[in-house]
Amino acid sequence: MVEICTVGGYNEVGKNSTAIKVGNEAFVLDLGIHLENYIKFTQDEDIVSLSPQELMDNGAVPDISAISDWKNNVKMLLPTHAHLDHIGALPYLTNNFKAPIMCTPFTSEVIKGIITEDKIKLNSKIKSMSANSVFKASDNVKIEFIHTTHSTPHTVMIALHTKEGIILYANDFKFDLFPTLGKKTNFKRLEELGNENVLALICDSTYASDARKMPSESVAKEMLKEVMLGLNSKNKHVVVTTFSSHIARLNSIVEFGQKMNRKIVFMGRSMAKYVRAAEATGIAKFSDRVEIFKFSGQIKRMLKKIAKDRGKYLMVVTGHQGEPKSTLSKMMNGELKFNFMPEDHIIFSCKTIPTPTNIENRKRLESDLRSYNVRIFKDIHQSGHAAREDLRDLINLVRPKHVIPAHGEPQMLSALADLAGEMGYNKGENVHLMKNGERIRL
Ligand SMILES: [Zn+2]
Repeated sequence: MVEICTVGGYNEVGKNSTAIKVGNEAFVLDLGIHLENYIKFTQDEDIVSLSPQELMDNGAVPDISAISDWKNNVKMLLPTHAHLDHIGALPYLTNNFKAPIMCTPFTSEVIKGIITEDKIKLNSKIKSMSANSVFKASDNVKIEFIHTTHSTPHTVMIALHTKEGIILYANDFKFDLFPTLGKKTNFKRLEELGNENVLALICDSTYASDARKMPSESVAKEMLKEVMLGLNSKNKHVVVTTFSSHIARLNSIVEFGQKMNRKIVFMGRSMAKYVRAAEATGIAKFSDRVEIFKFSGQIKRMLKKIAKDRGKYLMVVTGHQGEPKSTLSKMMNGELKFNFMPEDHIIFSCKTIPTPTNIENRKRLESDLRSYNVRIFKDIHQSGHAAREDLRDLINLVRPKHVIPAHGEPQMLSALADLAGEMGYNKGENVHLMKNGERIRL
């Protein structure tokens, strides 16, 4: 018998975690933080020392009491990719389980970077397995990592092969047909699974109501190209801010920075962390093209130099959501105070994640920036999540018996359920709208 517990990420976007029990063996897929609730405490996207119970009580990490009776059955922790809403709770919660962590090499490097930097001791081993490979977890369960595109490298869908059928976990993916770094999703394998027996699909719902195909990362690259190479930025400071984990995007920014004949500097702690992981796993090399500054002291010295040499540098900084402790926020009114001049270029290669804290932080940041009369270029971005027509493609490819919408607020999960309804599924019968902490037997 297969039993699924929807631990976290079924009432909200964030703190993703799903546990699957096959006979006596349980697997925990993803253990993420809820960024909004987390940042309320820390004012930062970095992992800092806080007690697990405090974080759980405040909705910042998944409430694993939902699977307390499975604790001794857990054989493996399986994060799908390196975003904090999928791995961020591992430093706090891993030691509740006597099980190794298994993930792709980039994800593994990012986790190791976090625990080393923050001096966290995990009792579990961190093992890595490449995408498009299979691991025999026991006589009853095989674990398969299937490569997919997303907004950070080495993202996988996980197929749990059981005697009852395959459970396919597809949280956070996009069907990018023209990725700018790395390969396309392994469509061939997904189609093969469709010809086997997919018992259930646990599926990303975040943009299920968005009636389109999500545009490729190559579209985001063209948007960047237009503002970075098309516009006249002679003798102006140019600052770009984006997601530190978005290695493909950073790679495009560096490519254009070189074409602009500027010296490229990366500034900020999380940027240094993800870039190191990308280099360690051979995904992209930055240190031969970019100078990387991690700590405030170094950044401060560099900014002094940059201020005197207008038009010579491309600054790539953390702080796209206006996080108060990020480099860009500190350049406004903190210890890194930087004097921008009118018509300097500030490029936001991101979308504001629409939570009250982010909206407020960004509003403050933008109004601070505007006081210098700089030019602001917003939304130079395409999402890493599947939209409605991509979700339809996935369902058609793998033809699951049951669909369990995941990764979203109730109305997002409902939108995926509606799509499944259009495709011949029935709510309650083979589409299951679940909440955090619920269980279903299949
Ligand atoms: Zn993600």
